[in-house]
Amino acid sequence: METPDIPGLHHVTIISGDPQQNIDFYTKVLGLRMVKKTVNFDDNFTYHLYYGDRVGSPGTIITFFPWPQAQPGKNGTGLTKSTAYMIPKSSMDFWEKRLKKHGVSTEPITERFGEPVLQFQDQDGVYLDLIGSDSADQLSNADQVWSTDDIPEEHAIRAFHGVTLNLESVEPTKDLLLLMGYTYEDVEGNRHRLQGKESEPGSIIDLVEISYEPGSMGKGIVHHIAFRCANDKEQAYWQETIAGAGIPVTEVRDRQYFKSIYFQEPGGVLFEIATDPPGFTSDEPVESLGSELKLPSWLESRRKEIEANLPIVK
Ligand code: ZN
Repeated sequence: METPDIPGLHHVTIISGDPQQNIDFYTKVLGLRMVKKTVNFDDNFTYHLYYGDRVGSPGTIITFFPWPQAQPGKNGTGLTKSTAYMIPKSSMDFWEKRLKKHGVSTEPITERFGEPVLQFQDQDGVYLDLIGSDSADQLSNADQVWSTDDIPEEHAIRAFHGVTLNLESVEPTKDLLLLMGYTYEDVEGNRHRLQGKESEPGSIIDLVEISYEPGSMGKGIVHHIAFRCANDKEQAYWQETIAGAGIPVTEVRDRQYFKSIYFQEPGGVLFEIATDPPGFTSDEPVESLGSELKLPSWLESRRKEIEANLPIVK
């Protein structure tokens, strides 16, 4: 088959602490929509919470495994350092004030490749960036922006801008991304920028070469990043191509809203390639996305037991 495109990120999955605090921060402070409330399929008494745009477009999905007792992780090489969201350039001031009002401390606005960047952390230490971009309203999901009572659509978060990986050495990871169809765009200091498809959400991967201790997994740390593919056939292509490059790849796993393969890139970051279908509207309508606890068919018979063991959230 012809080489398929990887347009950009599908989702970013992070380990967090308390689920209620997580919900409040991502839906109320950042104003994202909860698009799915389900459980960790490998640990059924833990939530898996998904936030995104109005319909849960790939490239807007940030997901969390909230473990109230989780020990903090440690940032370092071999991990995704930060997740960046795209906002209109004219909205930087709105967000700087808004975060301050909600008690979130921010770094002074800096610039990256000519775009303004506002950096901050959530209550669990998750590093987030808001990046003002001239192309915020040209993304393919532009008509699905989610707004709230106090975040008008003109300022609302559009989608992922991309992620930053901290690496001991950039070269091997860069080569893998080139194999995955990414284009090497530019370099600024020790930050190397690669891009998928420009008009798609979450198309940027920044690789930062930094001599630092290796990081460790835990609360506040990105567990993995997932890339998009259009269907099972393309996923099979990538499974074969990446294995062919000498990187062990898992079998296909059914994640209910997408199918996934996983592999560790040479710099240590866990990568996933997830299919766009069937998507988040496959088991509940757009209007009520995220409002009920959804369980896959193989867990439905245990619903009572699962619900009784999950923390209560609103
Ligand atoms: Zn994933």
